[in-house]
Amino acid sequence: MDYRVHNSIIELFQGDITKLQVDAIVNAANSRLAGGGGVDGAIHRAGGPAIMDACRKIGGCPTGEAVITTGGNLAAKYVIHTVGPVYSSGSAGVPKLLQNAYANSLNLAEKHGLKSMAFPSISTGVYGYPIEEASKIAIRTVVDHLNGQTILEKVIFVLFSSPDLEVYIKNIQAFL
Ligand code: ADP
Repeated sequence: MDYRVHNSIIELFQGDITKLQVDAIVNAANSRLAGGGGVDGAIHRAGGPAIMDACRKIGGCPTGEAVITTGGNLAAKYVIHTVGPVYSSGSAGVPKLLQNAYANSLNLAEKHGLKSMAFPSISTGVYGYPIEEASKIAIRTVVDHLNGQTILEKVIFVLFSSPDLEVYIKNIQAFL
C-alpha cells in the first residue's frame, strides 16, 4: 500500500526486509554492532561478512544513533544500522530514543544522497516495545521528515507479520 506524503511515498509492506531493492535497508542493531537474532541476524546472513567487517571497524553505535555500511551481497546498496531503546514502561526517555533512531537514520540517508530506504519495526521484537506505541512514533517521525526538505522519494515500512501490518495500516491514517 502506498501513501503520498508531500512529494514522497510511504509504502507499507509485509515481508522480509533483506529482499528489498532499495538504496538502504535499516537494521535494528545493538549498540556493539555485534549482530544477533531477529532482523539483525537475517541481514547479516543475507548480506554476508562484508557487513560485519564494516561494523567491526566502526566499533559501536549508541542508542538512538545510526551508522552506515555497505549492503554486501544484499540488493540494497547500504545498510543503515540504528539502535532502538529496550522498552521500559514509564521511562521518560524511551519514546525520544526511538524517535531519534528513526530520525538519525533518515538524516544519514539524506547525507548519502539516498532516494529510497526501508525500515523494520525497530525495538518491537526482542527489545519489547509495544507495536501500537512504536508504530505511531515511527510513522510520525517519517511523515514529519518527508514534510520537510528531503530527497527521499520512497520510505518503506517492512512488517514481518500481518498483525503488525494491520497496526500500521490503522495508525497511519491519523498522520496523513
Ligand atoms: P529489536 O531488538 O529492535 O526489538 P528484532 O529484530 O528483535 O529487533 O525485531 C524487530 C522487528 O523485526 C520485529 O517485528 C521482527 O518480527 C522483525 N523482523 C525479524 N526478521 C525480519 C526480516 N527478515 N524482515 C523484516 N522484519 C523482520
